[in-house]
Amino acid sequence: MTIDTDTVPKQLFLAGEWRDASGGETFEVEDPSTGEAIATVADGTEDDARAAMDACAAVQGEWAAHPPRERGEILRRAWQAITEQVDELAVLMTLEMGKTVAESKAEITYASEFFRWFAEEAVRIEGRFAKAPSGVGRLITMKQPVGPCYAITPWNFPMAMGTRKIGPAVAAGCTMVIKPAQQTPLSMLALARILEEAGLPAGVLNVLTSSSSSEVSKPIISDPRLRKLTFTGSTEVGRKLVEQSAQGLLKTSMELGGNAPFLVFDDADVDAAVEGAVIAKMRNVGEACTAANRFHVAERVQDEFTTKLAERLGAMKVGRGTEEGVDVGPLIDDDQRGKVAELVDDAVAGGAQAVVGGTRIDGPGYFYAPTVLAHVTPGTRLLQEEIFGPVAPVVGFGSEDEAVAWANDTEYGLVSYVYTRDIKRAFRVCEALDTGMIGLNQGLVSNPAAPFGGVKASGFGREGGREGIEEYLETKYIAMAMD
Ligand code: NAP
Repeated sequence: MTIDTDTVPKQLFLAGEWRDASGGETFEVEDPSTGEAIATVADGTEDDARAAMDACAAVQGEWAAHPPRERGEILRRAWQAITEQVDELAVLMTLEMGKTVAESKAEITYASEFFRWFAEEAVRIEGRFAKAPSGVGRLITMKQPVGPCYAITPWNFPMAMGTRKIGPAVAAGCTMVIKPAQQTPLSMLALARILEEAGLPAGVLNVLTSSSSSEVSKPIISDPRLRKLTFTGSTEVGRKLVEQSAQGLLKTSMELGGNAPFLVFDDADVDAAVEGAVIAKMRNVGEACTAANRFHVAERVQDEFTTKLAERLGAMKVGRGTEEGVDVGPLIDDDQRGKVAELVDDAVAGGAQAVVGGTRIDGPGYFYAPTVLAHVTPGTRLLQEEIFGPVAPVVGFGSEDEAVAWANDTEYGLVSYVYTRDIKRAFRVCEALDTGMIGLNQGLVSNPAAPFGGVKASGFGREGGREGIEEYLETKYIAMAMD
């Protein structure tokens, strides 16, 4: 299959069929580097949402009984197909999301690795057998699929945020409705076609594209047949969804926002820290929940770090993600760019100095210059809010205690980055940081073999690693009479 915006499916994928929305409506998908529409996609309705749940419920029993090896092999074939089509899929992703084709390829490889990982996990779902402590009776546990799941994903990683949920659900034997973000539905539709071709039985995965996320989600979340809600997106929406899911007492996983601190101690390798900072800040144009949001740097190395980081960001070429030599694509839309600009302007008004960047870039598309802000005043808004753009604010610190206190001074708790060459300090600081993940002397933590997730307002639940499949399994305990 050659994938481009013409050949990718634009309909809903329900019960194994590609269908128009019940109301016949569509909505447009825009290229953020031009602001122009590139495709129209089926605009799912509440009736379609109910049909998606019907499809899940109809095959849940059969799917749970499907041999684990076969479930794993479907994922493995899908991994293979994604790998073979990575170039075409990357262009599609860049067109709808904006990041460079090289970054889209990296995301698609990462996304596909969740299928390979969970293909291997499908055959390792195990229970326990133990003699009761009294010696009388036996304790047996077995793991079973949770049941029908509803997955909601954001636009920033249009494929990986889906495969982190679909992979373990398929491996565990759960059926699923997935609702991609309205700004980036095409990558998910292309993925559904790949899974269909890989032999995923009809009804196991249902894709509901819609411009009315709240309306189509309500009938699904209130459906008594639904057993799990898994969400990746903002903390604000996550809170609402947890409230809605309380009625059905759903098992929930929430991968929410972040405000990652990046700590550079005075014993750090500053060049390595700058290298890590470029990755942690500029991956995905800064539109990542794991993006380093604020750089806390020991006063002794603060100027060196700031100058070197500014040189690196200032040299990055901004442009359309499909063009050769471009390092940084546009932001997702004008609202997001406006929010970034507002935060930077506020910081500059408060005394920060824009060493490089600090401005929007004119022309069609939603471009913003890579920016380094020096001497940002503690308490400034952009240190407290998720920036979601290519802006690196640098703040100096005096002591280790001060650095840790500032790092933890946020409602979020997804990831932190720590640069130090002192092994004891490394452990001390890692133990003291209130985040679900830490990049220790590296600027990237995402790995399908590792448990991704946060604490505090960054949510709960883990995706990837051995923990990832547990989110889609229930433990059943059998008390067996035996002398
Ligand atoms: P968002 O506004 O929360 O949207 C995420 C998804 O939720 C989209 O599919 C959206 O649909 C849907 N949605 C919005 N309101 C809803 C409602 N009332 N009911 C049901 N669904 C609803 O977040 P975003 O702006 O797309 O994504 C950025 C956020 O995601 C950031 O905060 C980022 O940190 C977070 N994120 C977290 C992780 C993680 O693993 N922790 C990973 C990536 C991103 P529409 O597209 O129709 O609005």
